[in-house]
Amino acid sequence: MRILVAGGAGFIGSHLCDYLIAQGHFVTAVDNCITGRAKNVAHLAENDRFSLLELDVTEAFSWQGDAVFHLASPASPEGYLRHPFETLRVNSVGTDVLLALARENGAKFLFASTSEVYGDPLVHPQAETYWGNVNPIGPRACYDEGKRFGEAVTMEYVRQHEVDARIIRIFNTYGPRNDPGDGRVVPNFIAQAVLGQPITIYGDGTQTRSFCYVEDLVRGMTAAMFSANTQGEVFNLGNPDERTIREFADIVVRLTGTDVPVVHKPLPADDPKRRRPDISKANSRLGWAPAIDLEEGLGKTIAYFRQELPLQESR
Ligand code: NAD
Ligand code: UDP
Repeated sequence: MRILVAGGAGFIGSHLCDYLIAQGHFVTAVDNCITGRAKNVAHLAENDRFSLLELDVTEAFSWQGDAVFHLASPASPEGYLRHPFETLRVNSVGTDVLLALARENGAKFLFASTSEVYGDPLVHPQAETYWGNVNPIGPRACYDEGKRFGEAVTMEYVRQHEVDARIIRIFNTYGPRNDPGDGRVVPNFIAQAVLGQPITIYGDGTQTRSFCYVEDLVRGMTAAMFSANTQGEVFNLGNPDERTIREFADIVVRLTGTDVPVVHKPLPADDPKRRRPDISKANSRLGWAPAIDLEEGLGKTIAYFRQELPLQESR
């Protein structure tokens, strides 16, 4: 198949490109590198089934093919707070542009949404049927509401134009190629531990997240795209293994073999208190479940950071 990966030079997008290339597909990654890094896919440059085009998906472009994965968007709180208008535009205008391209090609489409559409959830764990508790005017709204618009426009292309589209809601995902500087908890804690700096816990660390290893996520994404009867469906994809941020800090300290202290910093506005995916739908409809546990996934991620961090320091 000829497959377009929007956001292909990003963290998750680059792993998706690897997977699709390994499956024998022809892959075009498009990215404006606003938060991604071309070096994430540099190892694919010599492969004649892969190309990277530097472009902004909020402007129409031409492409011919069979399937479109839309992952283009700043994703870390620091990233979208730095680029609020770009985040709103890529999830609204950009999603419309990519859906129109899929429609023109009769191609399949997948929109990468987020657990942030549940906001600070009042229901726990979160199933796809929950409508969420989002602050529409807070600092995170550019991302949360941008993604909610992206979901709405995706569903209209399904209803009005019969595009073969689906939505996945990704819960906190980590792994090699996480940008060490993007401010998310996994890269922050690992970089701090590896560099011998204090671990920065925001708030008292009792808030929870559930962390999914990137290779598990990529298997789930491709299952959602290519399994039968998934048009117009929404799937949570994440690992239900829920941890407090305090507990997560202790695990990172133990696995890196360091003894750095913990410091507390203020909790960002509207930071969700609890988050855990209900993945029963993905499990029953796609036969999907994560296979890599937190310690194994963190081991691989720490190994990547140990290689990467000296390069970052000298950049
Ligand atoms: P990332 O920032 O590493 O990747 C996103 C990519 O999109 C970047 O390479 C960026 O440069 C590109 N991009 C942004 N705007 C663009 C535009 N207008 N035109 C072209 N390219 C553009 O982030 P990621 O963690 O790999 O996230 C990928 C997708 O998954 C995002 O849509 C994100 O919202 C979603 N998601 C990620 C997580 C997670 O835990 N990583 C959780 C929920 C949802
Ligand atoms: N967090 C933290 N220290 C950090 C970075 C993040 O305690 O250095 C917390 C953050 O406040 C949130 C959780 O870790 O409660 C996950 O944050 P992240 O930015 O990774 O993703 P989010 O789930 O908030 O989008």
